Amino acid sequence: MEKKRLVVFTDIGDTIIDEGTEVRNGEVVVHASCIPGARDVMRKLFASGYTIAMVADGLTQSFHNMMEQHQLTDVFSAWIISEEVGEDKPSPKMFEAAMRALSLKEEDKGRIIMVGNNVLRDMRGANRFGIRSVLMDWSDRRSFEPQLPEDVPTYRIHEPAALFELCERLNAELEGGDEP
Ligand SMILES: [Mg+2]
Repeated sequence: MEKKRLVVFTDIGDTIIDEGTEVRNGEVVVHASCIPGARDVMRKLFASGYTIAMVADGLTQSFHNMMEQHQLTDVFSAWIISEEVGEDKPSPKMFEAAMRALSLKEEDKGRIIMVGNNVLRDMRGANRFGIRSVLMDWSDRRSFEPQLPEDVPTYRIHEPAALFELCERLNAELEGGDEP
């Protein structure tokens, strides 16, 4: 299948997984539910040819447990996890690691979006890094109030299903831009 131009970086907690449902064994999340519609949208994006990278703060074992539970392990071309990188978002190291894992270069930044629920980590990190940010405001566990200008999302959606439409629109803009 032909790959889409748009590349999707995504957070997990309260972006794909409902953090309120997490069951832990010590620090590690053993299982948790997806936000309604989140599994479907990830599978649909993957099946449609989008390249998807996980860019998540937490423990590697937690993400393996949750993605295996929901049969989502195959949708991610890269798993960038703060436990392995050594820093949490908004550190640029997280985004640099995702770029490196996908062999993306500086000139590719215009075709990457970062989806997340945390303005201080996901939005700030993406905006500072020079990629577009998508706030998923499904959960009310955190404030969405920006503290700095660079915390303001480029786009805002309220539920996972809206992510597919947004990706299709942004991808069409990118692919249209390539035509002579
Ligand atoms: Mg999150």
